[in-house]
Amino acid sequence: MSGLLSLDELRDLSKNGEVDTVLACLVDMQGRLMGKRFHAAHFVDSAWEETHCCNYLLATDLEMATPDGYVATSWESGYGDYVMSPDLTTLRKVPWLPGTVMVLCDVLDHHTHQPVPHSPRAMLKRQIERLTGLGYEAMMATELEFFLFEKSFDEIRNDKFRDLAPISGYNEDYHILQTTKEEHVMRPLRNHLYAAGIPVENSKGEAEAGQEELNIRYANALDTADYHSIAKHAVKEIAWQQGHAASFLAKWHHSRVGSSSHVHQSLWRDGNAAFFDPTDKLGMSALMKSYMAGLLKYASDYTYFLAPYINSYKRFQKGSFAPTRTIWSVDNRTAGFRLCGAGSKAVRVECRIGGSDLNPYLAMSAMLAAGIAGIQEKLELSEPMIGDVYQGESNSIPRTLRDARESLHTSALLRSALGDEVVDHYARAAEWEIEEFDQVVTDYEIARGFERA
Ligand code: ADP
Repeated sequence: MSGLLSLDELRDLSKNGEVDTVLACLVDMQGRLMGKRFHAAHFVDSAWEETHCCNYLLATDLEMATPDGYVATSWESGYGDYVMSPDLTTLRKVPWLPGTVMVLCDVLDHHTHQPVPHSPRAMLKRQIERLTGLGYEAMMATELEFFLFEKSFDEIRNDKFRDLAPISGYNEDYHILQTTKEEHVMRPLRNHLYAAGIPVENSKGEAEAGQEELNIRYANALDTADYHSIAKHAVKEIAWQQGHAASFLAKWHHSRVGSSSHVHQSLWRDGNAAFFDPTDKLGMSALMKSYMAGLLKYASDYTYFLAPYINSYKRFQKGSFAPTRTIWSVDNRTAGFRLCGAGSKAVRVECRIGGSDLNPYLAMSAMLAAGIAGIQEKLELSEPMIGDVYQGESNSIPRTLRDARESLHTSALLRSALGDEVVDHYARAAEWEIEEFDQVVTDYEIARGFERA
């Protein structure tokens, strides 16, 4: 499995006509791929060095609106350019699109050519560098859960998003029979991603009708975030090719289970698992305990990066497998943090708070910042909780975007680790989501109050 290409290999493929299109993509605040489609001949000739985009791409919402209140860009500053600098180590085939390859780009300031601090890849690289300074490498994996629907995106939009019908009629958790009926989407997804150099482990049915999970082998944090973004994009494109819609909304219906993106985390030193200590009863090293204590202590500070929309908070329901509390527990799916691989070299912590709508670069950079703080502050880890963690109210996850935004904005830890500019930028993004939502009259209000209020 390689799937990755060198520039010289791309030159050859372009010359012999096998490749004609290069997607040059940045990752935006929402974790989406944004960019341009180059003719391969032009890309190998000059655009491989750099290309440009409007700097509003890192200051929009899902609808591509141009909210005020960002220091980085505005109407007043004229919405100038950023440099998109192709990271040629990410040049890879896009096997599900004919004649096409893709490269991810770092976002640089147009004048200084320095990384733009609030660009997701730059944020993650900064925390990886801090960890390298301590002598460690983060190995991470993100699980991707999502729903497949019977109809296509366009049909569903034309139907005004009403009467949404998932692709299956029943809970398909681990079901081989039902997932066989979805193989026209899932098999090309697994195989095309694998051929693109993304080490897919498996897919499975999840615990709701129409719900899928895709697992990719753990890798260093930057590769994991790249894999996640490309895989999420591929899910939507391949579902679309097959006439279906795929949704990563954290909660598409109040009576259905939501979708998560659990993040598995371990630190390594010189190629060895630094979280493992065979003399500990659970196999956890002192380093792992401090890292986890940091994750727990600062969970409210970074919840915004795991749950960035109003909708994200509707997923946190008791008895739904989505957590409600920042408590850790051993192989227990009711806790916000689950110890996996106890007593083995694969010992790791799985953060279960994140929704399928998270941006993996932001989520991982904020959690690394918290883990690093745990190590530097030499924090002690509490005893694990046993039993049903849903019972009890202490250490609850922020209940709304408003609460999470406040915790982000006032976080001394994230201000020092990510920078004031970055925290203010994303706190404004959260505030904008709240302002927009507060203006909208919902179907729920009409149905409840139209006659009876
Ligand atoms: P689950 O019990 O959640 O289904 P899996 O065994 O499927 O757990 O593993 C989930 C993810 O954890 C996979 O993507 C796997 O590659 C990843 N993983 C395994 N070992 C490690 C590790 N040491 N560090 C980080 N992630 C890991």
